[in-house]
Amino acid sequence: MPEANPFESLQEQIGDAGEFLDVGDDVLERLKHPERVLETTLSVEMDDGTIETFKAFRSQFNGDRGPYKGGIRYHPGVTRDEVKALSGWMVYKTSVVDIPYGGGKGGIVIDPSEYSEGELERITRAFAAELRPFIGEDKDVPAPDVNTGQREMNWIKDTYETLENTTAPGVITGKALENGGSEGRVEATGRSTMFAAREIFDYLDRDLEGATVAVQGYGNAGSVAAKLIDDQGADVVAVSDSSGAIHNPDGFDTRAVKDFKNETGSVTGYDEATEEFSNGDLLTMDVDLLVPAALENAVDEDLARDVEADVVVEAANGPLTPDADDVLTERGVTVVPDILANAGGVTVSYFEWVQNRQRFQWTEERVNEELEAVITDAFDAMTDAHEDAGTPNLRTAAYVVAVQRVVDAYDGSGSWP
Ligand code: NAD
Repeated sequence: MPEANPFESLQEQIGDAGEFLDVGDDVLERLKHPERVLETTLSVEMDDGTIETFKAFRSQFNGDRGPYKGGIRYHPGVTRDEVKALSGWMVYKTSVVDIPYGGGKGGIVIDPSEYSEGELERITRAFAAELRPFIGEDKDVPAPDVNTGQREMNWIKDTYETLENTTAPGVITGKALENGGSEGRVEATGRSTMFAAREIFDYLDRDLEGATVAVQGYGNAGSVAAKLIDDQGADVVAVSDSSGAIHNPDGFDTRAVKDFKNETGSVTGYDEATEEFSNGDLLTMDVDLLVPAALENAVDEDLARDVEADVVVEAANGPLTPDADDVLTERGVTVVPDILANAGGVTVSYFEWVQNRQRFQWTEERVNEELEAVITDAFDAMTDAHEDAGTPNLRTAAYVVAVQRVVDAYDGSGSWP
């Protein structure tokens, strides 16, 4: 089966929501395409003196509700369509949690593990120089995504500020604390996944305490989600990363697994595991809650038929293909969509940007409290739309809320003829 094109998945999701909205096809069509996409080639000197070239993208999907906002990904699988899809998901993510941003996304086609720190710094600074005319505190505010973090954000901020001869910490979020970052940002994505899991179990009248959980992907999003869901009393019985999956029916010490991965680079080989298996097996385990937290298209139509979890909370962006989504809906599996369940990252990025603009630092307690309020409000808006509009699943309900807000912003500004 050919792999789903994530950009087509996004367009299908917007179309599905359109069926429950009083919005014309012409308006919906406009909302399915990015406003612009930068495609550039970076030429960078390697440690051995040779020049290597890298393809890089930045898609600015929609800016009607505020500056474009979204991460920068370093991965060999980055494509123009993937970046476009991810930028569109950001529009509807910032909208469903009602923060004043549009959506954008960027990426470099690169396997960062093959480059030295110095090479990565030169590559990142070259990308920042290309991005400079397009980004800014009130224009487009990038952030981390897969394989990028505080280090890369600090380099981009420094390059931008140097070239612009200014201080503009709000040009990028996900920075280190000492470079203008926010308390709570590193854990924010996984924290929203935990809030989403807590809320959906409550909504379904089920106990998260004692529930069994499998987490695919043990990076920033997955490991924090696992830790915080573990803290809610659930048993995280399986976790995985690109090296494979590990299982312990009694539940893992999620922090110890993270320490082990930090030391060795992978979760496999962890001595508390009773068995190791493949990622496919993890996704079809008989657990109460499945948290996909790796990359998009992890579950396709065939795999979806074998998913045994009752609830899926998407920490990753686009982990289910639309066909897989349909199968899970038919089979009565409840899915809390990515645009809500991983929106903590962009929400605390927004808090970081607010703090940068105010030149004022919030406490971690305040950040976490405000995040909880944003995610639970968005969850309630989504479940209200699900019940009021009778959407087949929560994803369509979330898009109904989010698309309507973008349309209202257009309408309110008189953008439509
Ligand atoms: P990361 O690089 O920190 O972690 C990714 C993890 O997935 C790694 O442990 C990697 O080994 C694992 N992985 C890769 N391929 C895999 C496979 N085939 N099977 C199992 N595991 C695999 O990245 P991250 O920041 O945690 O992002 C993960 C997902 O969450 C992405 O979809 C990203 O877009 C999304 N997300 C991240 C943030 C954030 O703030 N970090 C915010 C919103 C959404």
